[in-house]
This record gives sequence, C-alpha cells and structure tokens, in this order.
Amino acid sequence: MSIVYGPVPSWRLGRSLGIDLLSTKGKTCSFDCIYCQLGRTVNPLTERKQFVSLSQVTADLERVRGISADYATFSGVGEPTLASNLGEAIRLVKSVLKLAVAVLTNSSLMPREDVRRELTLADVVVAKIDAPNEELFRQINRPYPQCTFGEIIRAIKLFRGEYQGKLALQMMFIKANRSYASEMARIAEQLSPDEVQINTPLRSCAVQPLTPKDISAIQREFSKLGRVVTVYEASRPQVVPLDLKETLQRRPES
Ligand code: SF4
Repeated sequence: MSIVYGPVPSWRLGRSLGIDLLSTKGKTCSFDCIYCQLGRTVNPLTERKQFVSLSQVTADLERVRGISADYATFSGVGEPTLASNLGEAIRLVKSVLKLAVAVLTNSSLMPREDVRRELTLADVVVAKIDAPNEELFRQINRPYPQCTFGEIIRAIKLFRGEYQGKLALQMMFIKANRSYASEMARIAEQLSPDEVQINTPLRSCAVQPLTPKDISAIQREFSKLGRVVTVYEASRPQVVPLDLKETLQRRPES
C-alpha cells in the first residue's frame, strides 16, 4: 500500500494530497476519540517509532511527482507525529513534490521538543483541542494515560512562540462540549492561532453532529479571534483520488 492517498477535498486545505506515515492495518493513535471516523484505536501508542522507511517514502513520492494539489497533508490512519521520521519526510515531500505541507495533529506529542522542532518544518500545523478541561478531555478524546490536558495546552503555547508558519486550532464540537464554547474560546485566545476551525462530525461515526444553528452559536463565542471557519460554511473542491480504495482506508467517505 502506498503512503500517498487522495487527493481528497478538504474543507480546510482545498485539494489535499494525503501522506500516511503510519500506514498500519488499523488505527494507531495516542487517543481514541469518541467521534473518530476510523473506528476504535487498535494500536494504542504514545512513543514515537518508524513505521515506514524513508526509502519507501521516497519511492511513493516519486510515483506522484508533478501531481497538482494545494497541500501535501500528513494525516492518515492515526496520529502522524508518532512517526519518528516525520521531520525527514516533510523535507522529502517539499523537495520531491514542491507542495506546501500541512500536518494534522491531535497535539498529544507536542510536549516533546523533537516533535515541536519537526512540526516547524510544515507550512501549516492544525492542532486539535476538543475540551476546556482535563475531565472532558478524558471523556471526549480518551487519551492514553501519559497525556494530560494542561501539558498539551502549555506545549501548544510554547510551539506558537517557536513557529513562524500558520497555526490552526481544530475544535470538534459535539453534545458533550457544546455548552463549553466560551471556555474553549478563552483557551484559543491564549494560544494566538492564525485560524480556528470549528468542526462537528459530519462523516459516519458513533456521535451525532451538532446542527448549523448550534455551530453558528458556538462561532459567536469566538468573535475575539481573527479568523474562524466552520465546517458548515466551508466549500470543498472537486477532486478525483488516484486510488479510491487506498484513499477510503485512510479517509472513509472521501
Ligand atoms: S486523534 Fe484523530 S485519529 Fe486519533 S482517535 Fe482522535 S480523531 Fe481518531
């Protein structure tokens, strides 16, 4: 299976060519979010390791050299910062594909200095925060014990000071955190993101999405933040994936 999939139509990144540095059979993640569209985490992990060799990364990138996309996006079947060769892979993508690079992360490994350093190589980092406190964090994201909410918030703040690229916060709103929008907006204000992305799970999963009216009310709580986008307002480009089967394994209902 190639590590490259898509391109997929992303409401946040336009035509997004997916790079899956994990490429494991089931989901490999430090979280087991209740709304995850990939199902339950079958490979729970909080330590970094190499899943795919750099020679495979190079070979798979060479096969799509010249492809047109707005971003090459590190995502896939789990948390991309778990791959210990993420930094080298970002450099390879930039040199072979000449595309801007985005990384979608659940933020859990950002307390690590090596992870923050590697993320600074990306043009866009989209960091997840779905809760305003430890209790809801454990309820919604179901992290493995080592991760704590406070540490993650401190790490994103540190990263903001170190990073010149575009930092976006992605916030998934569901019934469990709907009434905490104001607290989450105050947290976002402290982190000075370039953008806040307000989401609700529109693809099939175990949790119902909030309505457009709910999301508009949540968006109003973020009025002090510069740029705030919501999943209901965004447009998606038309794209045709290179291999639909491989794409659907990483992104159901692409
Ligand atoms: S962090 Fe992402 S991949 Fe991991 S469980 Fe949550 S939604 Fe799924």
